[in-house]
Amino acid sequence: MFYIGCHLSVSQGYAAMGRTALSIGANTFQYFTRNPRGRGFRRPAREDIEALNKLISENGFAPPLAHAPYTFNPASAEDRIWSYSRDSMREDLEVLEDIPGALYNFHPGCHVGIGAEAGIENTARLLSEVITPGQGTRVLIETMAGKGSEIGKTFEEIRAIIDSVDEDCKSHVGVCLDTCHISDGGYDIIQDTDAVLETFDTVIGLDRLCAIHLNDSKNPLGAAKDRHEKIGEGFLGLEGIARVINHPLISHLPFYLETPNELDGYEREIALLKSLRK
Ligand code: FE
Ligand code: FE
Ligand code: ZN
Repeated sequence: MFYIGCHLSVSQGYAAMGRTALSIGANTFQYFTRNPRGRGFRRPAREDIEALNKLISENGFAPPLAHAPYTFNPASAEDRIWSYSRDSMREDLEVLEDIPGALYNFHPGCHVGIGAEAGIENTARLLSEVITPGQGTRVLIETMAGKGSEIGKTFEEIRAIIDSVDEDCKSHVGVCLDTCHISDGGYDIIQDTDAVLETFDTVIGLDRLCAIHLNDSKNPLGAAKDRHEKIGEGFLGLEGIARVINHPLISHLPFYLETPNELDGYEREIALLKSLRK
């Protein structure tokens, strides 16, 4: 099964996101759990979640990927920011317990001067505090482009976060690989797909890889810029992206587009990717 979806706005409601996904040929989707740059949070109505769950099971969707807002910084040394990130993440995870199999993606954060090692410790400590051993949701650390003081730009940093999480929480931690970010981070996922996935397996373990953010990049390999491009219009290119979605080690995973598109653009990209899927 080819699971492909794109980023949708949560403001339309949960069941409506499912209907929107269906209308553009998707069979999964991603959304921000709250305004990505603001701090507002409205708990979704139970009926809305139930309607979404029904749509998911009736249409054979892969569970949705909830994305934490950009205002979180789990790596922060500032207590106010770190505590806000922790409390909000807890709230997000509580909601997701009502969506079976849901995934939760977050940016491991920026160390802002305290150094990557200290940032990694802060992020791991936050995960240990928000994850409950019995939860159903897998929490995914996103691979980052390495812009500014971002942690998570190397597979080793992601491994270091996982290593520092409490033992009874570890099985709930996974990784979301962003194709634009890792290319910006210097991993040539296009020319050296096999080698990059092998490195991922050696350093982190492919069993932790749960989702792919499928994006082209406006910038060349190693640029550390994090500017997504439409599929086939950037430095990754259509041929390489086709190799990625068909790679036997990852083709079973859900792919989420975060390309600069409106709904009609996403619909076209989904159709294009389906035509390239072997
Ligand atoms: Fe992200
Ligand atoms: Fe991403
Ligand atoms: Zn990005």
